[in-house]
Amino acid sequence: MSGHNFKKKFGQNFLTDKNLLDAIVRDAGVTENDEVLEIGSGAGALTTAISNYAKRTVSFEIDKELEFDLLALNLSNTTFIFEDALKKPLGDIEKYFDGEYKLVANLPYYITTPLIFKFLEESDRIRSMTIMVQKEVADRITSNKGGKDYGVLTIMIAFYGSATITRNVSRKMFYPVPNVDSAVVRIDIDRDKFKDVDKKGFSQFIKACFSMRRKTLLNNLSSGYGVDKTKLHDVLGANILSKRAEEFDLYEFVEIYKKLKTIKR
Ligand code: SAM
Repeated sequence: MSGHNFKKKFGQNFLTDKNLLDAIVRDAGVTENDEVLEIGSGAGALTTAISNYAKRTVSFEIDKELEFDLLALNLSNTTFIFEDALKKPLGDIEKYFDGEYKLVANLPYYITTPLIFKFLEESDRIRSMTIMVQKEVADRITSNKGGKDYGVLTIMIAFYGSATITRNVSRKMFYPVPNVDSAVVRIDIDRDKFKDVDKKGFSQFIKACFSMRRKTLLNNLSSGYGVDKTKLHDVLGANILSKRAEEFDLYEFVEIYKKLKTIKR
C-alpha cells in the first residue's frame, strides 16, 4: 500500500483498525454461510475482515491502481472486480452470487444515496446492508417524523425494512482523515412488509410529497404529481392536505397513497 495516491474523487478514506473492522462484520451478522458483497475494496482491510467470517466475498473497486495490492492479499474466498459498482447493472452484480447475499461496505460518500436506492428498489435477493456512511446520512436514515433529517431516504428505507445505527465512528479512524464523522448503519430488508403496495409508484409518490419541503401536501401533489386539487380534496380531505410531508409517518403515507390510487388521472 505504500505510496498509494489517495483519490478524493473516489471517496478514498481507508480504515486500518482491526477491532473496528471486525466489529463492522459482526454488526452485519456475517456467518460462514453468507455470501457478501463489498463495494469499495480500498486496500482490502474490510475485505480481509469479511473474508474471515463469510463463505464468499465479492468486492468491487473502481480504482485499478489498487489491483496489485488487493490481489497480493491472496484471499482465497474472495473475488475482486475492478469496475464501477454504481454503473454496473444489478443483474450483472448478482450473477456472482448463488442465492441471497449481504452488503457490507465502507461506502464512498459520493455514491451512498444512489447506491442504497439501487439495492432497495431493484434487488429481491439482498438481505441486509451494513454500511459506513457520513453521520449526517446515518441521521437521515434513522430519523423520526417531524425532524429536520426526516425525508425520502428515511421513509423509503423504512418501507423496505428497518434501520439502526450500530456504532458511531470518529473521523480519526480513517486515513486520510475526512472532514466529518461517520456511523455504521445496518438496514435489514423485509420484502414482504408492504407486499400489496406498488413499490415504484410509492417511491414516486414520496418523492413528490417531499419535492418542496416547506409546501403542503396539497401543493406538492397537485403541482409536481399532477393531480387535480378538487379531486385531491374529495379523496384526502383538507386535514391531510394542509399538512407538510414531514408530519406523516410511513404507515400514514401508505394509507394516503392507497387513497390517491383510487383517483383516475
Ligand atoms: N473498504 C476500504 C476501507 O474500508 O478501508 C475502502 C473504503 S473507501 C471509503 C471507498 C472505496 O470505494 C475507495 O477505495 C474507492 O476507490 C472505491 N469506490 C469509489 N467509487 C466506487 C464505485 N463507483 N465502484 C466501486 N468502488 C468505488
